[in-house]
Amino acid sequence: MNPHVLFWIPAALRLAGIWIGSAVLWYFFGPVIGLLAGLALTTAMTIVQLYYLSALDIWLDSPRSDRLPDGWGAWHAVYSHLYRLNHDEEKSKKELTEWLTRFREAMNFLPDGVAIMDNVLFLDWCNPMAEKHLGLDLGRDRDMRITNLVRDPAFIDYVILGKYDEPLEMKFNDRYLVLQIIPFGNRRQILVTHDKTDSIRTEKIRRDFIANASHELRTPLTVINGFLELAIAQPDLDRETRLSHLNMMREQGERMQSLVEDMLTLTNLESNDYPIRREPFDALLLVKNIYQAAQALSGGRHVFELEMDGPETLYGSMDEIRTAFTNLVTNAVRYTPDGGSITLKWTSTEEGPRFSVRDTGIGIEAKHIPRLTQRFYQVDKSRSRQVNGTGLGLSIVRHVLLRHEARLDIESEPGKGSEFSAQFSRRILVP
Ligand code: ADP
Repeated sequence: MNPHVLFWIPAALRLAGIWIGSAVLWYFFGPVIGLLAGLALTTAMTIVQLYYLSALDIWLDSPRSDRLPDGWGAWHAVYSHLYRLNHDEEKSKKELTEWLTRFREAMNFLPDGVAIMDNVLFLDWCNPMAEKHLGLDLGRDRDMRITNLVRDPAFIDYVILGKYDEPLEMKFNDRYLVLQIIPFGNRRQILVTHDKTDSIRTEKIRRDFIANASHELRTPLTVINGFLELAIAQPDLDRETRLSHLNMMREQGERMQSLVEDMLTLTNLESNDYPIRREPFDALLLVKNIYQAAQALSGGRHVFELEMDGPETLYGSMDEIRTAFTNLVTNAVRYTPDGGSITLKWTSTEEGPRFSVRDTGIGIEAKHIPRLTQRFYQVDKSRSRQVNGTGLGLSIVRHVLLRHEARLDIESEPGKGSEFSAQFSRRILVP
């Protein structure tokens, strides 16, 4: 049976009860009593109905399920119905709010920017990454046209042409951005932004590295080829000239070997795991070995000193640290004229252990210091070539120190000498 018919039955029964009661009273006590009783009962019923109607009206001002009044008779059915409807709506509203919160949270963690706009590109919403990429502020810029906010000719052309199948690459606020507008749903558009600055920078570093490496390798190779061609063209050169040519070729070969070795070291450092595996090693023994190797390299041309009151055990990669310290010490030997002095220090500072190499060598002008750790950077190319320098030594040092959460401090004065220090943090003292 239709449930709405059931809804009418109690109301009809109550009305019928009033009429029958009034008729009985009419029969026993006369028409006045019968009519008065009928009038009183229908008035009472009307007042009850009006009471429930006004309760419903009050509730509609703030329709919350837990505040719904209770009813009697047909009102009970109405209120139950309303309760169910309202409860379902509150539930779906809650679910929608939760879903929206989760969606916004996910959007906030997205590495790309997302902005939602209407069909005429008025900004509706965007995530923090879109604010960062496009210099927007959602609170301030909402309901403004995106072309008034991102005032870049390339972007405006992209919007005017409306060729949204293709993404747009542009430089905006010192970033390389890839943008695309995607129309969706009911006349809405989504703008996605991706920041390519880091990958472009890395790509450029790699390209420069390859260009520099090829250039550095080409010079010795040209020299070797030149001598070989000479040897073929003039097979009867005297023994002394030939020997001198062979010696020059060997020097260039050694230079190429140093270059290739340093490039391999750098590449290995870059491809090794980060953070490094921390293995314990004896720093005192390492520094002593390096000190002896430096003396051997100097061959008695310099005066050496060693101060050691630093910690014994370090945790890190001994091979990498040996390479870094050796590079610093080798530089001191190479860039200090004969008779100069070189001091190695292994000490403990507030910050952590420190390895310093001080020399009384040629020194470096202040303007060069910030660039010394760049790959292939050399203050004086011809001087570095004389000492078989590659321009990669300090890049290797910087890389190793970065991997060990340490930094390179450089102090130098032209003509007086330099001090290169590897400053570690206390982190290197624990596994
Ligand atoms: P290189 O192999 O040419 O020495 P590095 O990266 O080791 O390359 O050093 C970069 C440059 O820094 C060198 O070319 C040199 O000009 C300068 N340099 C490094 N160490 C010293 C030092 N102890 N004294 C003077 N100049 C130095």
